Amino acid sequence: MHEDSLIARARQFPGHPEVILGIGDDAALLKPSGQTLVWAVDTMVENTHFLRAMPAAEIGWKLLAVNLSDLAAMNAKPIAALLSLGVPSDISPAWLSAFWDGLEQACQTYQVALAGGDTVRSSELHLSLSVLGQSAYPIQRKGAQAGDKLVVTGSFGGSAAGLYCFQHQLARLELLNRHWHPIPRFKEADLLVAESERQKTHLALLDTSDGLARSLQLICQSNQLGCLVNGYAIPVQNGLAEFPTQAQNWVLNGGEDYELLAALPASTAAQLDPKLFSIIGTLTTELAQLIQYSDQVIDLQQNQWGFQHF
Ligand code: ADP
Ligand code: MG
Repeated sequence: MHEDSLIARARQFPGHPEVILGIGDDAALLKPSGQTLVWAVDTMVENTHFLRAMPAAEIGWKLLAVNLSDLAAMNAKPIAALLSLGVPSDISPAWLSAFWDGLEQACQTYQVALAGGDTVRSSELHLSLSVLGQSAYPIQRKGAQAGDKLVVTGSFGGSAAGLYCFQHQLARLELLNRHWHPIPRFKEADLLVAESERQKTHLALLDTSDGLARSLQLICQSNQLGCLVNGYAIPVQNGLAEFPTQAQNWVLNGGEDYELLAALPASTAAQLDPKLFSIIGTLTTELAQLIQYSDQVIDLQQNQWGFQHF
């Protein structure tokens, strides 16, 4: 696909009422309604974050969805995205077209305008997308207190298991889908904020992009607290029983599940729908960061957890 036809295709994407001018000029024009602006960026590089053999439409979906997960974790709603594409000369028009389809589907689903971008030749496939959103009531990682319950959405380990299944050509569709089709947890973020507002209690929130263990460390560090987590309370993705030797590591450390981790008072946590939320532990004044099983206690400060590039 030629650059001009690529951009022409992007101009068919949906708009957003607060984007005054999208693709076609030197820059986009936005007129947000006066809420706090919330801004995130994520980059996906071939072979580091995805393989070219994966479905291109899913890579397009995921590129937006991972950014939206960051917005959901700030209690923000998206307005518009900018896309920077580094495209090798051997990429096929069919790949680009499918990538575009997946990105468009995500833009439509979550009402994000693709307001512009940049396209360059590159030795590797390099995808970087930035999303601008807004929030009347942004939620940060800090603001938690000792005694708060740690609550998560969804389940863990599915994305790492999906990657393994892809690499080993195991047709486990639910797991593969968990790897390349993350669903940003806007609905759950709304429910957490609504319950906190109803009870006038505090809330700390982040997403679990780099793994649950890493997110637990981050919420502890941000609040200068420790944690005590019941390992058996952590919701495990369906289908992991088939992989008993890897399951625990995938659940704690696999990353890319794009769930939310919240800290909030026990009285508020108790009101949450148990079909959508799991209470996994407590924040403590003791600074240790522990995950307890009957035969094992994992000390998060003894190891480096989560995927860190540097
Ligand atoms: P310039 O040379 O002024 O940077 P370009 O020719 O790169 O302009 O881009 C023309 C228009 O197309 C701009 O509105 C730009 O935002 C948009 N655009 C370019 N590449 C992309 C892309 N990958 N995705 C979305 N919009 C793009
Ligand atoms: Mg220009």
